This record gives sequence, C-alpha cells and structure tokens, in this order.
Amino acid sequence: MTHQQASATEPAIIERSEHVISRENISDNALKVLYRLRNGGYQAHLVGGSVRDLSLGRLPKDFDVATDATPEEVDALFRNCRLIGRRFRLAHVHFGPEVIEVATFRALHGSEPETDDAGDRVVEAGRILRDNVYGSLEEDALRRDFTINALYYNIADFSVVDYTGGMADLTDGLVRLIGDPETRYREDPVRMLRAVRFAVKLGFRIEQQTGECIPRLGSLLEAIPAARLFDEALKLLLSGQGVETLAMLRRYDLLRYLFPQTDALLNHDRHGVALAFINRALANTDRRIGEDKPITPAFLFGAMLWPVVQARSRAYVEDVASPAQAIQEAMGDVVERQLRTLTIPKRFGVPMREIWSIQARLERYRGKRALRLLGHPRFRAAYDFYCLRADAGDADPEVVRFWRDLQEAPEEERPALAGVNKPGGRGRGSKQSTDSEAATAAQAGVSEESTE
Ligand code: ATP
Ligand code: MG
Repeated sequence: MTHQQASATEPAIIERSEHVISRENISDNALKVLYRLRNGGYQAHLVGGSVRDLSLGRLPKDFDVATDATPEEVDALFRNCRLIGRRFRLAHVHFGPEVIEVATFRALHGSEPETDDAGDRVVEAGRILRDNVYGSLEEDALRRDFTINALYYNIADFSVVDYTGGMADLTDGLVRLIGDPETRYREDPVRMLRAVRFAVKLGFRIEQQTGECIPRLGSLLEAIPAARLFDEALKLLLSGQGVETLAMLRRYDLLRYLFPQTDALLNHDRHGVALAFINRALANTDRRIGEDKPITPAFLFGAMLWPVVQARSRAYVEDVASPAQAIQEAMGDVVERQLRTLTIPKRFGVPMREIWSIQARLERYRGKRALRLLGHPRFRAAYDFYCLRADAGDADPEVVRFWRDLQEAPEEERPALAGVNKPGGRGRGSKQSTDSEAATAAQAGVSEESTE
C-alpha cells in the first residue's frame, strides 16, 4: 500500500484546518528562513523530525528546512549563512546558538545512472555511499527513511504535503519504511537502528514488513564504520528511554552489532544479574535526562560493558596477583574487542576505565586512601556506578554506606570516619577492609558464579 502511495505523483495535501501544526510552535528563526525563501520566489517547507514532532504535539529538537533553491541561492539570501559539506552542500543559517539547516531537494530513487563522478550518487552492493543529485520535492520525500519523517509543512499555505502516507502512520503509531524495506535497509543499514530509535521515542510500533526483515538483515550493520555506529549508539542510549531501547534492540537482534560481547553475555545471563545492573544504569540515566541533569556517556558505556569485564576477569583471577589486577587485564581485553565494532572516543574511553578501576579501590577504603579517593575527579561517577551495582545485588551495601557517610560528613570529621589520625584507632570501615581483597574477588565473580 505504501509502495503504491510512494510512487503516486499526486501527494495528499492536508489543509491547515486538518492538521495541528501551528506557527506558534515553530521557532521564530525557522519562520524567518521560510518566509525569506518564499519571498525570494522559492519553495520553502519545514521537513523531517520537526513536522513529525509538531504533528504529535511534541516540541521539536530542531527545525530543518527543504527548498528548491540551490545552496548558493540560499547563501545569497542570508548574511548569516554558511555552506557546509563538500559533496552534498547544505546551508546553515545561524541565529546565535540556533542553526536552521536548509537543504535543497535531493533525488535518490529514480532512473538516473549510477556514476562515481562528483555530484552524483554512488551505490556499492546496494549501499549508498554518496548521494548528491538535486531533485523535486517528491524525489526528496521518497529518498527519506520513514513515512513519518517525510512530511513537508508548506509555508506558502500552511498545508502539509504528504507523498508517502506519513500522516496516516502518525495517527496509527507506525514506523514504516518508504518503499521496499529490504532495498532500503541495503541502501543504508543504519535505518534498522533508526527504526528502533523512533519506535521507542514515539511509543510507536514498527510496521510489520518494516520490522520482520530486521533480524535477517541485521548483519548488514557489520559494514558500517565504527564511528557511525558509535553516534547511533549514543543517540539510542541517550534517548531518555534507554531501558525500552535496550529491550527493543534485543528483540530485533540488533544489540550484537553494537555491543557484541554484552549481547552474548545477556543471552546467557540466566539469573538476570547482568541485565538487572545494565537496566538500572539505563533507568538512572533516563531519569537524569528527564530531570535535565548532566549525564556522561562514559558511565553508560561503562555500564554496558561492566558485566563483560567482570566475567572476563575471572579468566585472569588465577594467574595474577590480585582481583583488581584481573579486572585491569580484563578491561584491556574487553575494550579492545569492543573497539572492533564501535568506536569509543578517548574522551569517553579514558573516564570509563577510571570508573571501572575505582570499583575495586572503593572496597579498600581504610585510611588516607579513602580521603584521597574522595578527591578523585571520577570519584562521584565511580561511586554512583558502585551504588547501582549494589542495588542490582552485585556489590556490598556496607561499602555504599561508608562512602555515603563519608561524603555527607563535614570535612573535619572525615579523617576520623576513614580511620585516619587516631593512633591505634579504627575507622568504621576497618572491619570490612581487612578482607577487602577477598570481597573484591567475590564481586568480580558474582555474575558469573551465579550462572554456573
Ligand atoms: P530527531 O528528532 O531524532 O533528530 P529526525 O527525524 O530529525 O529525528 P535526523 O537524523 O535529524 O532525524 O534526520 C533528519 C531527517 O533526514 C529525517 O527525518 C529523515 O527524513 C532524513 N534522514 C535522516 N537519516 C536518514 C537515513 N539514514 N535515510 C533516509 N533518510 C534519512
Ligand atoms: Mg533532527
């Protein structure tokens, strides 16, 4: 049905009185750009995520504009304009911190020959590598991914132009690829991840044909550069609905292409300890995002991989001096393997390892060491991480209490709490810390032992 609609030349035009998009909810700067293009004699439409979100009564993240003006023509209309992109040029119109992206209608489907001359599109084994042909609004609509992302709000008469049945899918709550799903996934396998992202974000279902071939075609994601997968993974995990996202990624068997080691471990996590921990970390992040608190990807990636690090460290625990050292060895292994699939930039990778390393140090908390650790730039994140582990039954609640009390205590009482400065005195932590290494060993093996 969609396919027929997609190849029809007559779009549905939804008049202003029949949709809910109001200029009141469109940013002034986006309106300025739309009107200036229109007054310059060009077509001007709001498109993509903003039309989708406005139709659903949500606040869009940003506003993208589509036009028949070329980038150079757009540039000539705006003083605050910058052209970006070498191959496919886009115009960015700057208003202080807000950037309105203006794209010229682009073609993709159709019969133009595939060539590798600059300015044309290149397809390799069905996958689009560049895509650079200007086109009509219809062509622009048909090369987009989902019907709900292919609606155009026309500033000329405030109607919505719908070539693909996107309005009906918005009403029905369906994420539906435009055209033949298999072809569209082969063109760009990342669309599989995007289907999951939009379904979770909007509380939609993935339409049957759009969804059913995902498990079969998932391995196409192996051809996607690790850096792009990192970007997608970040959007997925930081969507504010990380828990549902993880569940849906697993349902469509896509987690293995982002976090292969985690996926394998979760599939054998009979007692659910690892999943409980990861879900707690995701839920915690979701809550912080909901409260507009800062979050760090290092923490989240650290959580996704921690159960793997623990499991791997068991392999080392017999050959190295201490459990903490086993964790160090395991960290190296796990990160190295992870990076083959998905890049973790150093700015996240370094703090991630610090959070992991501090886990064992939190359990050896007697004396000056404790006070020093409190001042570590990554202490707070590592402590929060430890708390989540304790909540999931994977770490010692007594250790959590010690650190919580220490942080809450006034500065001058901290040395006493940590057992410092009292000759022969014993801090609250001394009892546990005497066998801290045994405790660490137990922690390191917890999730694995339970699966044996
Ligand atoms: P979000 O609110 O998450 O930004 P969005 O719909 O704006 O959602 P973007 O990734 O910003 O998503 O992309 C903007 C638009 O570009 C999409 O709505 C879609 O029409 C088109 N698009 C993006 N990525 C693809 C893709 N891989 N294949 C086809 N069209 C795409
Ligand atoms: Mg967007």
